Amino acid sequence: MLYIVGHTNPDTDSICSAIVLSYFMDGAPARLGKLNPETEFILKRFGIMEPELIKSAKGKELILIDHADKSQSLEDLDEGKLIGIIDHHKVGMTTSEPILFISKPLGSTATVIAELYFNNTMSFIGGKNKELKPDLAGLLLSAIISDTVLFKSPTTTETDKELAEKLAKIANIEDINKYGMELLKAKSSVGKMSPEEIISLDYKNFDFNGKKIGIGQVEVIDVSEVEAKKQLIYKALEEKFKEDYDLILFLITDIMKEGSEVLVVGNNEAFEKAFNTTLENNSTFLDGVMSRKKQIVPPLEKYYIK
Ligand code: MN
Ligand code: MN
Repeated sequence: MLYIVGHTNPDTDSICSAIVLSYFMDGAPARLGKLNPETEFILKRFGIMEPELIKSAKGKELILIDHADKSQSLEDLDEGKLIGIIDHHKVGMTTSEPILFISKPLGSTATVIAELYFNNTMSFIGGKNKELKPDLAGLLLSAIISDTVLFKSPTTTETDKELAEKLAKIANIEDINKYGMELLKAKSSVGKMSPEEIISLDYKNFDFNGKKIGIGQVEVIDVSEVEAKKQLIYKALEEKFKEDYDLILFLITDIMKEGSEVLVVGNNEAFEKAFNTTLENNSTFLDGVMSRKKQIVPPLEKYYIK
């Protein structure tokens, strides 16, 4: 059986892209964790079931989407048969056998999939040239909006905007901005969550030169709910740090201000040097920083690998 699966602590792109790609590949969408409130909102909106939760790669054929990094995948990934990777992140892994590999520096994996569809090139990756149904177009559109933070993130490309327009037409969504704000509101509803839940909403591990780094992020329209829990979040991060980390960062991204407050646990010096900044009470505000992938990971990796 072919499974299409995104990264651990799945976000909207990982879930929605898995669902749509499995439609074209005749596979089964899978997930490596709980859905976040934004993704739940989207699946409900389009009447789509959540993908199956899987815990092992054993006996499975797999296409990884929205990640190309073993530290963000199934722990026993090597026990399965890796067929391919469709992604938009930096390449963080090698494979022992040839695989299908498509990765483009676009705003979301959903954009990569939409591009394959609109170019009639699904067959190029072994998929079927079927018609994209309105509900599935809605999922891809939602994933683009989510990953690009309604086209505000510096990861946004012209292709993301163009394909979002095309998808919105198919999905019968007249006002992308209005729908986008609904999504971002769903994303921001962290009021009832525990600090641990907020941290794991969007949390990724990285291996930089043998050092374990964790980077979490929460993107909110109104920071007050997260601000109120900041001390507790920091405590929970310190607890997590005991799991053999060198550094943990947690980004509270203010979508309206277009910047992120970063909470830092562990190797403060690494952070200060990498970002040429000074921390006060283990935190700082980075103006204009919204993207972990484009603005946090590269300087940090450069620091560690130097
Ligand atoms: Mn993702
Ligand atoms: Mn993505």
